[in-house]
Amino acid sequence: MNVSVTEKALQQRAASGRPLVRVVIVGHVDHGKSTLIGRLLHETGSLPDGKLEALKAVSSRRGMPFQWSFLLDALQTERDQGITLDTSQIRFRTASRDIVLIDAPGHAEFLRNMITGASQADAALLIIDVADGVRDQTRRHGYLLHLLGISQVAVVINKMDRVGFDECRFHEIEAEIVDHLSSLGLTATAIIPISARHGDGVARHTAPVAWHSGPTVLEVLDRFAPARPAAELALRIPVQAVYKFDDRRIIAGRIETGRIAVGDEIVIMPRATRARVETIEAWPVPDESRVPRKADAGQSVGLTLDRAAFVDRGDLISAVDTPAKAVRRLRARVFWLHETPLAVGTVINVRAGMSECLGTIALIDNAVDPGELSASNLTSIAQNHVGEIEIALSQPLAADIYALNPRTGRIVLDLAGRIAGGGLVLATDSAAGQVAQSAVAQSEAIVVDLPRDDLAARAGRLGAALIDLSPADRLARFRDEVDGGIVFTTSFGLEDQVITHWLSESGLDIEIATLDTGRLFPETYQLWVETEHRYGRSIRALYPQHTSLEALVDKHGINGFYESREARTACCQIRKVEPLNRALAGAAGWVVGLRADQSRHRHATGLVAVDRGLLKLSPLVDWTREAVHDFATANAIPINPLHAKGFASIGCAPCTRAIAPGEPERAGRWWWEQEDQKECGLHITTVDGAPWRVRAARRS
Ligand code: SF4
Repeated sequence: MNVSVTEKALQQRAASGRPLVRVVIVGHVDHGKSTLIGRLLHETGSLPDGKLEALKAVSSRRGMPFQWSFLLDALQTERDQGITLDTSQIRFRTASRDIVLIDAPGHAEFLRNMITGASQADAALLIIDVADGVRDQTRRHGYLLHLLGISQVAVVINKMDRVGFDECRFHEIEAEIVDHLSSLGLTATAIIPISARHGDGVARHTAPVAWHSGPTVLEVLDRFAPARPAAELALRIPVQAVYKFDDRRIIAGRIETGRIAVGDEIVIMPRATRARVETIEAWPVPDESRVPRKADAGQSVGLTLDRAAFVDRGDLISAVDTPAKAVRRLRARVFWLHETPLAVGTVINVRAGMSECLGTIALIDNAVDPGELSASNLTSIAQNHVGEIEIALSQPLAADIYALNPRTGRIVLDLAGRIAGGGLVLATDSAAGQVAQSAVAQSEAIVVDLPRDDLAARAGRLGAALIDLSPADRLARFRDEVDGGIVFTTSFGLEDQVITHWLSESGLDIEIATLDTGRLFPETYQLWVETEHRYGRSIRALYPQHTSLEALVDKHGINGFYESREARTACCQIRKVEPLNRALAGAAGWVVGLRADQSRHRHATGLVAVDRGLLKLSPLVDWTREAVHDFATANAIPINPLHAKGFASIGCAPCTRAIAPGEPERAGRWWWEQEDQKECGLHITTVDGAPWRVRAARRS
C-alpha cells in the first residue's frame, strides 16, 4: 500500500467521482495520533493483506505487546520515495468520501505548506488525551487551525479506557475545549469519546461509549464537506502569453478555476475589459466537428476574442458576474522565508498568478512564531514566522480573496530577486485600507531625537503613515513630522529633477544639495544652472576636501578608479561620501531619489528608512521609471539631455555610460564591476558611526 499521496494521485482520485476531503490531524505528541491513524486504516480495510498479522507476529516474537502506532512506523518506511510534500499524507475511504489524512508532526512546516499552497486541508481532527486534558500544545494547535481558517474541526477525546469511560470526565474536557475553540471563533463539528487502542467510538458505537449520542470518528469524517471542485468556482484564467498567429491574437493560459465556452462573455482584469470568446483553439487543427467548444478547470487553452481588446501576460480572465478584483492594496497572511525580517516600509515584488508589481509593506499585524503559536505585537516578521501584512501596490493587480478562490487568492513575495514569502489574500482595497488608517493615526507626533532602535521603529511607523500619499504629499508630511533640518541630495538625474520640482513648487523648508565631485558631465553642470534659474533657488554645492583630493591623486593617479576597487572606493570616499557627511551634518532627515526597481540592491529600499542616523525618505520608491518620465514631461520639468542618449542614471562622467536596450538601469554605472558591487558609498556603505557622532557632538 502506498500511504503517501502525490498531487497527481489526488487528482486521479477526485476524478473518480467520490468527494475528496483532506483532513489534518493535530494534537499533543503523546495523545495517540499514530494509534488513531493505525486504527482508522484497519477499520476501513485500507491495510495490505497480512500486514497487521505480520506486525503482530513480529511484536510477539520480540515479546512486546502490539501497538497500533507500530503500523504507522512500518508503513512509513515503505512510503513512496517520490513524495514531494513535507507532511505525511495517508488515504483511506469512508462510506461516501475519499479521505486524505495529513499528519502534521511539525506544525511550523505544516503552517508553511498550507500558507504557501504546498498542501491543503479542508477539515481537522484535534486529538486530546482524556487523562491529560487540554494542554498548552492542544491550545496552540487550536490556534493553528484558527490561523489557517479551517472551520470544520472535530475533537476526539482519546484513551477513554484509561478513565473507565468516565462520562463526567469527558464532559469536563468537552467544556474546556469548547471554551477554548469558541475564544478563537471556532465551533467543533463534533466532540467524540474514543479509545483508539480498543476501537471504541472509532468505527462503532461500542458498549463502553453507549452514553455518547454523537457520531463516531468515521461518521464525522464522512460528513466533512469537501473543497468545492475547481471547475465549480468562478472562471479564472491567468494569461501566460499572447501570440500573433496569422491575423489572429491567441491568448494562452491554464484554466485555474471554472469553465469557459465559445460565446461566453468574459472580463479581463485588472483593466476590466469585456469581450466574448470567439474560438477555443486546438492543435493540430481538428476537423470542424471536433473543434472544442468548451473547456474546464485544469485545461490549458488558447482563446481568440470577438474584438481587439488589449490583453497582456499577467492579466486574469474572469467570469463577468464574479470578476477578480483590480487590487491597489491588499491584506495577506504570509509565511516569511527571508533571513531579513519583513518590516513596514519594505518594498517587495508581489506576484499573484502570472501578474506582478512592486508593493510597499504598509502594516504588520499579529506576527507569530510558529514554535509558540501565539500572537505578538512585533513590528516585523522574522524568518520562518507568520504574520498579517498590508501591502500598498504600485499598480492595480488582478487577485482574489483566498476564502473565495483558494487558487487565485494566493501571493508570492520576492525580495532582491529571491522568493521571500508566500501568503493568503485576506482582504483587498477598502477593507484593508481601513486597518491601515489606524496605523496612520498611531504614527502621529513622530519625533526623531531618539536612540537608534527607536528611530528604526519610528521610520517604520512613518513609512506606514506616508504610503498612501502622493510623493509630493509624502514630502510635505515628512517635513511636518521630522523635527530638525532636512536635506535633499540631487545628482540632477530624472528622479532628482522631479523631486526638486515638488520641493520648489511647495516651498517646503528642505535644503537641496549636490556633491560636485569635480568629474561631472558638462550637461549636468548646464542643467544645474538651468534648474536654479527655472525654480529661482540655489542648490548648495559640496566639494571634496582639497588636501584629501591631492593625496588621492598622488596615490592612485587622476583616473586611478579604473585600476582597482580599492582606488575606486577611495575616490568615492573623498569625492562623495565625505562631502555627503558634511551636507547631512546636523540634519535630522534626508531625502533621496531612489526607486526600488532600479536594481536588485534597491529592491529592499524602504519608503522611510534609517541611514547614517537619519530618517531617510525615498518619495519615489514605488514609482517606475516610465511614471517618473511621464510626470517630468507633463510638467515640463528640465531633465538631463544625457537621458535622451541612453544614460539611465547620472553620475561622474568617467564612471557612467549609456545603457543598451534591455540592460538593467544600473548597468551604466561602474560597468566594469559586478552587479552586486554597482553602488558607491553613498548608498551601501554603512557609516553609521561617523555622521551620527557628528550630530551627537553638535547637540552636546
Ligand atoms: Fe570617483 Fe568614479 Fe566615484 Fe566619481 S563615481 S567619485 S569618479 S570613483
